[in-house]
Amino acid sequence: MATDCIFCKIVAGEIPSDKLYQDELVTAFRDIRPVAPVHILVIPNAHSSSVTEMGDGDAATLGRIVAVANQLAKQEGVSKSGFRLLCNAGPDAGQVVYHTHFHLIGGRELGPMVAR
Ligand code: AMP
Repeated sequence: MATDCIFCKIVAGEIPSDKLYQDELVTAFRDIRPVAPVHILVIPNAHSSSVTEMGDGDAATLGRIVAVANQLAKQEGVSKSGFRLLCNAGPDAGQVVYHTHFHLIGGRELGPMVAR
């Protein structure tokens, strides 16, 4: 656990969150500032500052994140309508919280990813 990390504190239950799922590897909770009707964060319990620190050794955790995201997408009713599962890494991506997390976003048309 990283001492000043807000998501580590959510995993540990030290600060409140709208938690939807937790097991020995991952935790999922609703984003505090949702950008769509469904906006859930799925995060590894163990601290890493971004996905750039993850690799082969994290296969079980990354697999669990995808499995949990798919399960939650079903529960939230967006599995068939569609959703995005995305991870911001670093400043150009607009990463704000430096504990690896995946956004599960859906429940409205999200629009194309436009080339610039
Ligand atoms: P990112 O830009 O990928 O680092 O996104 C960080 C996300 O964490 C943002 O969508 C925030 O709204 C969300 N967030 C920050 N603090 C909390 C919190 N205490 N509970 C739930 N979501 C949070």
